[in-house]
Amino acid sequence: MHYPDILNKAVNDQEISFDEGVYLYKEAPLEALQEAANQIRIKKTNPSEVTYLIDRNINYTNVCITNCKFCNFYRTGDHEGAYVLSKDILRQKIEETIAVGGTRILMQGGHHPDLKLDWYLDILSWLRKEFPSIELDCFSPSEIDNLCVLENQDAETILKALIGAGLQGLPGGGAELLDDEIRQKVSPKKISGPRWLEIMEIAHKLGLKTSSSMVIGFGEKVENRIKHFQLLRDQQKESLKKYNNAFIAFIAWPLQYELTPLGKQSQNEGKLGATKEDYLRNLAMARIFLNPYYTNIQASWPTMGFKVAQEALSYGANDFGSTMLEENVVSQASTKTHKYILVDDICKLITEAGYTPIQRVTDYSKAQSSHS
Ligand code: SF4
Repeated sequence: MHYPDILNKAVNDQEISFDEGVYLYKEAPLEALQEAANQIRIKKTNPSEVTYLIDRNINYTNVCITNCKFCNFYRTGDHEGAYVLSKDILRQKIEETIAVGGTRILMQGGHHPDLKLDWYLDILSWLRKEFPSIELDCFSPSEIDNLCVLENQDAETILKALIGAGLQGLPGGGAELLDDEIRQKVSPKKISGPRWLEIMEIAHKLGLKTSSSMVIGFGEKVENRIKHFQLLRDQQKESLKKYNNAFIAFIAWPLQYELTPLGKQSQNEGKLGATKEDYLRNLAMARIFLNPYYTNIQASWPTMGFKVAQEALSYGANDFGSTMLEENVVSQASTKTHKYILVDDICKLITEAGYTPIQRVTDYSKAQSSHS
């Protein structure tokens, strides 16, 4: 194999194979990956613009029965720090979001064993009525699966009920690495990779907006990462063909582990997380391997910091992510993550990196009352 030929294929919108992906990931110089990823980004999206979203992450409950080894967010129901947010708190959080020009909430939580479908339907209908201008992207596939178990219903029935109450999108959380070889080791009680994809396919069929994510740094091999890309790319092709609706974006970030059970296991010392170079290589490889089926790829400022997020814009990313306003899950796994960013600072960072900041909504169309 010859890496320039493989990169050439990708830049010319031909799929590269699993073996070619592994070879590129292991052998190609980072600068060559950067150049190819940037060429694809320039072809797929406006080269002078970088988008961002004003939204808020809301974690409605931290009660969870799944105890993933990389999580320091969840609590058992009898723990003194366990919570379920009230409507009053939700109202306050959303009003603050609207006050800074926010257009969306991304609401996710743990796998609560006692919150049944009625609770979710009530919250969604209330949110839809009280805040009609706010997009409601809520509940990742593993939360949907938890509801399927609690209600003894299939995912399509659950999703249809949630859509009826106001749901507009499913966040791409909980994908971590979709290769079950890794999931079995770090989150054996969480849904499998195929189940995550199955629920996303149903969401595509029902017209929901979805995104896809990836977490690197569990001590996995390059082959596990390429398998993750391949599973997403296959699903993307399938969903585009069948429903003309598929993942709107992809985002990857390195595992934050310092305060988690996984991070505290001494045999993992030096094996977890990712360096800046590893993150940028993975980002460029995502742009290359997912081509030509993905348009939007996000940089991750909360985990990588603002400077690396700026650099990511020349490694295939065309989006700076969102303000989030608060982040409670990833940030509880480490003392080093950034929890929020102000809109003016996002615009400044994008401008400093040489691009025009464009405020978007979930589907990447321009926000009506653009801040930029
Ligand atoms: S990552 Fe999510 S599913 Fe896993 S323990 Fe934490 S809250 Fe529960």
